[in-house]
Amino acid sequence: QLQATGIRKLFGGFVALDDISIDIERGEFLTLLGPSGSGKTTFLNILAGFEAPTGGRLLQDGTDITHRPAEERDFGMVFQGYALFPHMTVERNVAFPLRVRKVAKAEQAERVAKALEVVGLSAHAGKRPSELSGGQQQRVALARAIVFEPDMLLLDEPLSALDKNLREQLQEELQRIHREIRTTFVFVTHDQSEALALSSRVAIFNHGRLQQIGAPDEVYTRPASRFVAEFLGQIN
Ligand code: ATP
Repeated sequence: QLQATGIRKLFGGFVALDDISIDIERGEFLTLLGPSGSGKTTFLNILAGFEAPTGGRLLQDGTDITHRPAEERDFGMVFQGYALFPHMTVERNVAFPLRVRKVAKAEQAERVAKALEVVGLSAHAGKRPSELSGGQQQRVALARAIVFEPDMLLLDEPLSALDKNLREQLQEELQRIHREIRTTFVFVTHDQSEALALSSRVAIFNHGRLQQIGAPDEVYTRPASRFVAEFLGQIN
């Protein structure tokens, strides 16, 4: 579905990403895992179109999208601190991407209702974000990201601000939602157990390089390097 080939990113003289090639398969749950500063967010930003790579290219179903602006990529996004509009109800927040795309009113209502049902918030449609818990707000952000049925959903540490119980609960929710809507998920985390629990494949980054990519049990039982073994071994 999306092929990243030889992606490089320099910030001044600093190599943030060095020759990253990943084929993202349609419908998979791919997690980008690595310590802080390893380049996960930079790679996701390049997929999203927020940053241009210094080298390499991105093909989406064979079409070169390396230089396509973010707003023309049509990926859903749930980013850390990508806030809801405080003055709008949950319903209007979720409808926002549909209003931007000038979707007909009746269809908007139908799709918003469905997205809220998927994330389990139908009963809260008329509330404002301030009346919801942190976990519920994150679900609204998720509903807003899936409401226009994007080709791919990019999630940057969406659960990291939540406490442990809530995070575990939302991890299960995310898996259920992924199964239900069957959209491709690209998920960033620095939490090893979260990555292994959620993903169909894990891509492990360190110092801007892709160390290994594979199914969770594969990278866990057959680490390709000492770094991968030690990093995954830190699970608590
Ligand atoms: P974290 O989990 O802490 O967000 P990360 O793996 O997502 O880490 P990135 O945010 O991608 O890492 O950053 C990779 C490296 O590139 C870091 O060393 C960071 O300081 C550097 N970097 C990122 N953005 C910029 C920028 N705009 N200008 C200069 N350096 C940057």
